[in-house]
Amino acid sequence: MKCVKCGHTMFTGQTTLAAEIRGEKVEVTLDLPQCENCGRMLLGGRKGRRLYHRAVSDAYRTKHNLLTSREIDQLRRGMGMTWTQFADYADVGVATLKRWMGGEIQTHSLDSLVRLKADYKYAARALAELASRLATENVGGRTTTVPVVRRYVTARITRFEYPAAATADTQPQAA
Ligand SMILES: [Zn+2]
Repeated sequence: MKCVKCGHTMFTGQTTLAAEIRGEKVEVTLDLPQCENCGRMLLGGRKGRRLYHRAVSDAYRTKHNLLTSREIDQLRRGMGMTWTQFADYADVGVATLKRWMGGEIQTHSLDSLVRLKADYKYAARALAELASRLATENVGGRTTTVPVVRRYVTARITRFEYPAAATADTQPQAA
């Protein structure tokens, strides 16, 4: 490929670009064709713009502890589901999931929903927190059941061994 500006050869290399999204500055690193002579970079075409948009969105999502497009895809793959199956299962529209994959930023509420449905460790923590918050006075006076429920939940969570490789990139930062 030749540079349209100066005619020299272009090569593909990693480039870090500054971007702004929702009023915040982020940096994204992309593989882009660039001119070895004048430094012109190619960020053209629909595919290039989509990649850029998604990378900027993912940088923002990482910063705000939201699932990135890659993590959403990993959760889906981890369940062995197609996009349609995953959308049905997670109770999120398939068009919505596709927009997230294209770079639209999901709300924190829907992010939590997807994690609860598809990220075992996140769900386990939520369950543990629920168990720890169950107060005796909240279960209609059946004061003896709560410790039982709590022990049951805790035992289940403690026994479960989550495959480390599958969670490396999907760790929720729950308190
Ligand atoms: Zn050039």
